[in-house]
Amino acid sequence: MQSILVAPGRYVQGAGACAEAGEQVVLLGKKALVLGGKRGLGSVRDALKASFTKNAIQYFEEPFGGECCDKEIKRVAALAKTKGADVIIGAGGGKTLDTGKMVALELGIPIVIIPTIAATDAPCSGLSVVYTDEGIFDRYVVMKNPDMIIVDTEIIVKAPLRLFVSGMGDALATWFEAEACDKIAAPNLSGGKNTQAALALARLCYDQLIEYGIEAKAACAAQVVSPAFERIVEANTLLSGLGFESGGLAGAHAIHNGMTTIEEMHHCYHGEKVAFGTLVQLVLQDAPREIFDEVVSFCISVGLPVTLEQLGCSEFSLEKLLPAGEMACAAGETIWNMPRKVTGKDVAQAMIVADAIGKMYLSTC
Ligand SMILES: [Zn+2]
Repeated sequence: MQSILVAPGRYVQGAGACAEAGEQVVLLGKKALVLGGKRGLGSVRDALKASFTKNAIQYFEEPFGGECCDKEIKRVAALAKTKGADVIIGAGGGKTLDTGKMVALELGIPIVIIPTIAATDAPCSGLSVVYTDEGIFDRYVVMKNPDMIIVDTEIIVKAPLRLFVSGMGDALATWFEAEACDKIAAPNLSGGKNTQAALALARLCYDQLIEYGIEAKAACAAQVVSPAFERIVEANTLLSGLGFESGGLAGAHAIHNGMTTIEEMHHCYHGEKVAFGTLVQLVLQDAPREIFDEVVSFCISVGLPVTLEQLGCSEFSLEKLLPAGEMACAAGETIWNMPRKVTGKDVAQAMIVADAIGKMYLSTC
């Protein structure tokens, strides 16, 4: 198997990045259709318009319909065609960005991603999740990575703190999943073996979180961009994005998927469940004490959940957790990238152990 690394064409990050977006976007097109939700458009509009005018780029704006489904993709694509757009810009969070990617794919024109939250590592990826018109999961669409990502940290710092912390939870899993994949040369999301570069980026992602996570959270709570905040926005968005796509997923994300069967956890964010999924993966791979010390202490320090109760599930039993364990081990799940093969029961038991470990650390701090 050959090694493959995939990455976005250009990554731009900094306070006020939107005010200079024109200098970047002009490399891709002169007529931009900007798709975004109310908050997304509101936070980029003035800066983009001014910067686009300076660079002779036409600005068209379209509110996102709310669902990344075929109907919405076709609607926005038709509109972009009518306007003669030669570049699509997605401004906002998950579904808006995924729709933007799909529209650009449909029209064969470049896509610029402007995330307004740093809650997951999705912005850099060449992946869209498409739902039915009714909002039920329909399919994953794999495509080339976005042509450009513009991350304005002045905008990200104003997003809800819990979303930023959740992004750290998603990023926390990256190194452990990439390392697990690498041990058995499991294929990453681009279908190749891991490069040394992807592994190094995944490790850097983890090291940055441990070193600067708390400072970054403090800055975000105060809504002020600091050097540590910049580092963690990069870790959550770029390092975690490259790390997961080119390093591979393993236990933590499969266990997250399993946890979607637990109703009490439906209010939790992706990264919050992934953080706990990371603890469960560490139990399954029999990680040494030092790793638990570091990972659990980190989670507690930034406010990521370390017990099932913190995820909203205060009453549980092996029986209750078993469906989640089974789903985590479904055929084709990334848990099969773990060096040691596990069963649904192993996963459910490891959830109980991870919870007990979390409680133990909570009682001593
Ligand atoms: Zn994730």
